[in-house]
Amino acid sequence: MIFKSVATFLVLSSGMCLGQSSIAADTAGGPTSVPKAPVSFDLSAIDKTADPCTDFYAYACGNWKKNNPIPSDQTRWGRFNELAERNNYLLYSDLKAAADAPKTPLQKKYGDYFAACMNVDLADKLGATPIEPALKTIAAWNDKKTAATLMGEMEQKYGQGFFFDFGSAQDQKDSTQQIGELDQAGLGLPDRDYYLNDDERSKTLRAQYVEHVTKMFTLLGDTPEQAAAEAKNVITIETALAQGSMSRVDRRTPANVYHVMTIAELQALTPDFDWKIFLTANQQGRLKTVNVTTPGFFKTVKEQLDAADIDALKSYMRWHTVHRFAPNLSNAFVQENFNFYAATLAGQKELAPRWKRCTAATDRALGEAVGQDWVAKNFPPAAKDNMQKLLDAFRDKIGYPERWRDYSSVVVKRDDPAGNVQRVALFNDRRNLNKIGKPVDEKEWAMTPPTVNAYYSPAKNDINFPAGILQPPFYDFKIDPAVNFGGIGVVIGHEMTHGFDDQGSQYDPTGNVRSWWTAEDKKKFDERTDCEVKEYGAFEVAPGQTLNGKLTLGENTADNGGLHIAYAALMSTLAKQGIDPSAKVDGYTAAQRYFIGFGQVWCENTREQAARLRARTDPHSAGMWRVNGSVQNFDEFGKAFGCKAGQPMTPVNACRVW
Ligand SMILES: [Zn+2]
Repeated sequence: MIFKSVATFLVLSSGMCLGQSSIAADTAGGPTSVPKAPVSFDLSAIDKTADPCTDFYAYACGNWKKNNPIPSDQTRWGRFNELAERNNYLLYSDLKAAADAPKTPLQKKYGDYFAACMNVDLADKLGATPIEPALKTIAAWNDKKTAATLMGEMEQKYGQGFFFDFGSAQDQKDSTQQIGELDQAGLGLPDRDYYLNDDERSKTLRAQYVEHVTKMFTLLGDTPEQAAAEAKNVITIETALAQGSMSRVDRRTPANVYHVMTIAELQALTPDFDWKIFLTANQQGRLKTVNVTTPGFFKTVKEQLDAADIDALKSYMRWHTVHRFAPNLSNAFVQENFNFYAATLAGQKELAPRWKRCTAATDRALGEAVGQDWVAKNFPPAAKDNMQKLLDAFRDKIGYPERWRDYSSVVVKRDDPAGNVQRVALFNDRRNLNKIGKPVDEKEWAMTPPTVNAYYSPAKNDINFPAGILQPPFYDFKIDPAVNFGGIGVVIGHEMTHGFDDQGSQYDPTGNVRSWWTAEDKKKFDERTDCEVKEYGAFEVAPGQTLNGKLTLGENTADNGGLHIAYAALMSTLAKQGIDPSAKVDGYTAAQRYFIGFGQVWCENTREQAARLRARTDPHSAGMWRVNGSVQNFDEFGKAFGCKAGQPMTPVNACRVW
């Protein structure tokens, strides 16, 4: 079970689909050097041999790109990563201190979690034993008619779902309420296209995936012949599920994923799967209705439960159990998981050191426990006050939650790392399901305090800025306003614009899905967004791989809107403060510093495999196109750098959405 939200993030966290979040059994040593703090406006990053009117990104970031190769434990390296590495290091120092000498019960809890995770020898000694009870439950299943009983038990005991996700979600039509939701899931590859595309690259990746699944089965002790037969079962079932899945682009339309049904209607959709049993196992037996996001997919699940023989279904469940838990098992599992998900799919050269992975894992597991001490040290009240002043139009949340999550029911044992992971997963699963039928908690956060990211939630109509992003290069109270408006100012404008992008515009001001536009306005909006779809859809991220203009439309609209909003805010601030915008700092006018500050937030290098993966799955465009795409559509850019009409950064047919 995963946290479900329609929120739009500023960037896709790197761990979300690249397998970097794995926890491995290598060495348990700590960092060898302290990562340097990123600077806000980096003159040394600028490549003055590049022409800003031809390729602004090359100008703002050219030297940074040359001087910052991708570290071997990363698939992409940019300013976000620099800051995230620094935050992660500071967090590590807290965790290490708490593990060695805890001062409070909370420190004892997260210190033990971290120490257990760092215990290489214990993980290797345990091998696959932590998942044996779950595998035995699957092995003992002998009647397809009892699929609901088995799946209910697996979800209840281990928080492990198959085929689909079951959780809570904010009701699109009544944003104050949480409802139950069933959503498509169950694929081992990052997107349905990986199963369905017919090009050579996709075929090769599929063959490598089958090889990986086979290896994982052999690690569980199966013979090579058994393992190969089981992997064949897995790919057959997953390919059918992929065919029945709705695409990422279609899922962007809220109406496409909103089908509230009674339990009787759901039962009619999948007659042989006893939903009463499944729901009761999850303490939701009293549920009257549920949102079935993609009914077509559930028909496919029914067909698979009918058509596949029970051994094939068991192979599929066995695979998903070991896959889900692989990062927490012994070294052989960790390494094989890394080989496919990080190395093959995303081009990562080496597993990140264990201290980095255990720090990130502890943050994910107990983020609002760890975060309390982290913000006390790294995000003083003055920083929160300053940010509050920048944001008053929207409901906003700054830095960290007002009320911290209560982890008192989570048992953490220093000598049971895998058990800790399972208990936290189960805690989150129960916490999520317990929301069904209750009012939405407006104060809840979907990100931990040290996170370098931000998000907008259309249903709550609020913007969330974790403490982790409120520092250089995004925000620096020591620097001139132009740079701050180009950094955090554009981020704020970006999140505000999400309220009016292709998705956000379908929610009314109270956060409910409702068409509140005139037909005329809607038509104009569609014509304008169509321009952006074509523009970004032509940008290439790797040979033969372009961005998907429809998938990235919401984020591109937010980038374009953010750049306009923050520019206007900067100019009015300078006027109010009596600052002459043509006065130069470091040889640049305020407008030039604004655009360079904006561009430099997105300086990055990406491995080719990761660029291809992101183009298919990430709704955000690559850094280069977030910069060049946005400045091309904004007249003030050409004026600031004295570009002539018709140059690459000042095209005559620029797009305008807002
Ligand atoms: Zn965004």
